Amino acid sequence: MSGAAPERQAVIDLEAFRHNVSTLSALAKPADTMLAVKADAYGHGMVRVARAALESGASSLAVLDIPAALELRAAGITAPIFAWMHDPDALFGEAAEADIDLGISAVWQLDAIAAAGASRAPRVHLKIDTGLSRNGSTEADWPALVQSALAHDAAGAVKLHAAWSHLADASPEADRVALEKLHRAVAVAEELGARFELVHLAASSAGIRMPEARLGMVRFGIAAYGVSPFDDETARDLGLRPVMTLRSRVVSTKRVPAGHGVSYGLTYRTERESTLALVPLGYADGVPRIASGRARVWIGGRRYPIAGRIAMDQFVVDLGDGPVEVGDEVVVFGEGDDGEPTAEEWAGWAETIGDEIVARVGPRVERVYRNESASDVACATGADDPTEGALGATVREIATPEEMHEFGRSLGATLAAGDVIVLAGDLGAGKTTFTRGVGEGMGVRGPVTSPTFVLARTHPSLVGGPALVHVDAYRLGSALELDDLDIDFAGSVVVVEWGRGLVEAVAESYLAIDIERPHGAGAASDADAAGDGTEEADAPVEPRTVRITGVGERWS
Ligand SMILES: *Cc1c(COP(=O)(O)O)cnc(C)c1O
Repeated sequence: MSGAAPERQAVIDLEAFRHNVSTLSALAKPADTMLAVKADAYGHGMVRVARAALESGASSLAVLDIPAALELRAAGITAPIFAWMHDPDALFGEAAEADIDLGISAVWQLDAIAAAGASRAPRVHLKIDTGLSRNGSTEADWPALVQSALAHDAAGAVKLHAAWSHLADASPEADRVALEKLHRAVAVAEELGARFELVHLAASSAGIRMPEARLGMVRFGIAAYGVSPFDDETARDLGLRPVMTLRSRVVSTKRVPAGHGVSYGLTYRTERESTLALVPLGYADGVPRIASGRARVWIGGRRYPIAGRIAMDQFVVDLGDGPVEVGDEVVVFGEGDDGEPTAEEWAGWAETIGDEIVARVGPRVERVYRNESASDVACATGADDPTEGALGATVREIATPEEMHEFGRSLGATLAAGDVIVLAGDLGAGKTTFTRGVGEGMGVRGPVTSPTFVLARTHPSLVGGPALVHVDAYRLGSALELDDLDIDFAGSVVVVEWGRGLVEAVAESYLAIDIERPHGAGAASDADAAGDGTEEADAPVEPRTVRITGVGERWS
């Protein structure tokens, strides 16, 4: 980021973020999780955060508008992306070509999509205004919107996919009324002939506290960033971890006598002889001026008050006799574990919400990422052709079942006893084909077929190597049940399908392999579930995106 200086940093802990996303997506289940990465991921950096979200439980992403959605596509993200704010010049054609899901509030938007004449029909989510009074159709306009969508769907210009709304979070009662309105709107639409694959309403607040509003999907935002959506519980109370730490350094100190005025307007005067420290962060960086006189920052393991007005580029801290030197780190807000202020506390000092505190952190502040996964690193280091990347750090496109098999085979040939693979992908994505390749590469006895009905199947080695244990964890409720299968993790190679959230308890290191079909393409073959191992036989041949993420020492 141009102009960013190392003395102003927002440290983004992707491990904390992944923890939050997996916590929230587990809570929302069986509802899917869409992660809101609008406004540059609430100031955290959109692309990195989007990837981390998809690695840890989110199945889709929400951005505000089409340009942001196209930016995610350009970064190689293939998961569904939802954008809902459109002006009359919106790039509907580009959005359709890039397979962006569009939130639709008015007939003119549908007409504009059709007029764009793209080669593919985007999925549309019709929005009913259930009380927030922002976008979304009124109840009066709703039947006409539905009918227009049905007509455009029939003409092949759009795919009518979902109905949705957004809550005002005014009170639990008001939110229940809104939910009722959404249900009524869906019923009205169904009477007109609409069939929705998905209905969604809840964001963080209702996603956490209003189970009946989770419906098919929750659009989590602020909670995933480790900021509570509630006044009466902090993120920490909710089991969530603040993701962003805003920090700087002391750039000068001076000793001043009692009664010394500080900063514009001299609204602050030292009570006694004191040391002042200058910190090069100001409201241009997002530090809210209104918090002058209330806010505290963390230096050397202690809280100190900001003295006088926060200026555009700097503020002054009254250290008293605190032992602070030029170059010392200043934490404006952070995780809060050691006593440093949190964004939630800053929200109180600034009479706002924590969302604004993190989202307003400005462009001069360098974003620094902690705990990136292997695939984040691969993408961030800008490997020209990620398909050529080393194992454990790559995203690959795989065009055919043969290539999937070969990918498994070449990986299988490198595996050793103790290795664990967590395999994820829709029915028909190619999990069995991949695992069959792994088995071949390892030289184990086949046939490798889906273990759905046996939970775990052991394939002994034909060449004196480790066995391949193939597990389907889909029906396992807990890590304990996985443990109960008595798998020889140390002595074999274990491939666990649907193992996210379970394997972590039994294996420190694992390789996560996520196979994604281009969404919307073709119907899933469920031969995978039938266990006959012929999943690809009659499935259409479509390319897959395979995301390989190394977790733990073995794969770092
Ligand atoms: C921002 C936003 C979300 C996420 O809201 P949070 O309260 O941050 O969880 C969900 N849906 C829509 C439409 C949004 O604008």
